[in-house]
Amino acid sequence: MNSAGRASPRIGYSFLKLMTGSDLANRRLPMIGCVSPNPGPLVWLTACSHGDEVGGIAVIHDLFRRLQRQLLRGAVHAFPLMNPLGFESGTRNITISREDLNRSFPGNLHGSLGERIAARIFTRILDAAPDLVLDLHNDWIRSIPFALLDPATAALPAAAYERTCTLARETGLCTIIETDAVEHSLTYNLLARGIPAITLELGESRVVNEIHVVSGIGAIWNVLAHLGLVAPLTEPFRYPLPPRYAQGDMLQYSDKPVGSKSGIIRFLVEPGTEIKAGQAFARITNAFGKHQETVKATQDAIVLGHSDSAAVFPGMPIMAFGIEV
Ligand SMILES: [Zn+2]
Repeated sequence: MNSAGRASPRIGYSFLKLMTGSDLANRRLPMIGCVSPNPGPLVWLTACSHGDEVGGIAVIHDLFRRLQRQLLRGAVHAFPLMNPLGFESGTRNITISREDLNRSFPGNLHGSLGERIAARIFTRILDAAPDLVLDLHNDWIRSIPFALLDPATAALPAAAYERTCTLARETGLCTIIETDAVEHSLTYNLLARGIPAITLELGESRVVNEIHVVSGIGAIWNVLAHLGLVAPLTEPFRYPLPPRYAQGDMLQYSDKPVGSKSGIIRFLVEPGTEIKAGQAFARITNAFGKHQETVKATQDAIVLGHSDSAAVFPGMPIMAFGIEV
């Protein structure tokens, strides 16, 4: 009971068994659950399927600390660290098999290592029948946080897709639709089974950036409040965006135009700012500092992020944009 005499939410820590390692150690995935005595929706959070995308782990830790006192109804469950092998070596893929876990869903209990891990995660989540899954990722070093949606395809039930769009708008983040369907991602496979699922790209990879942790918690709290699991913040979280892009409209992801020369990239516009068609966004110089190319936007857009590379080759993306659909 808390001081107000209400029953408190219960927090629990458990494991999902994966396999026995060569050292006979149990390889298992940590799970966290916070359950209110009052029935309500179930939300699943997942993080670090890409081992170098670590920010979501901290978002989950800080969020559960708050939920322990503030979850009003329903439950929140989480896999905070889905790819420990990648995490420990600072690599995106599962180190041993070099597989991308987020290209291995829905998985196969008799398939490759990645498919077996994916199958266990996927089955555990499906069995719980959540109302929403939020999959936490990180992007380029210089990138703003955004909510990423799978593109609508005939394989995705319309009702679940609509619901996903509604919940994505609640995040207070820029909402971006992926260019192509990624048919073996976690979110795509959940959506295909009628479970709303959103990827949150929360700024840079490799290290925990506390600024993006705050954005991640704000975005998730908005959604939990919309679903009635927690009380809304007095001032709901809104990531600061240029007015034209702050209305919650769905934007399309684009990494075009790409460069057509080799050289060194000098970025001319900042992530989170607006860019107009025809505006220069990058200058490419050669090793003598001589100008090779000025790359210009082909349409109005918001800048989502800068490439992590200073080197550019013909055809290589330089920036990511959100463009109006
Ligand atoms: Zn990722």
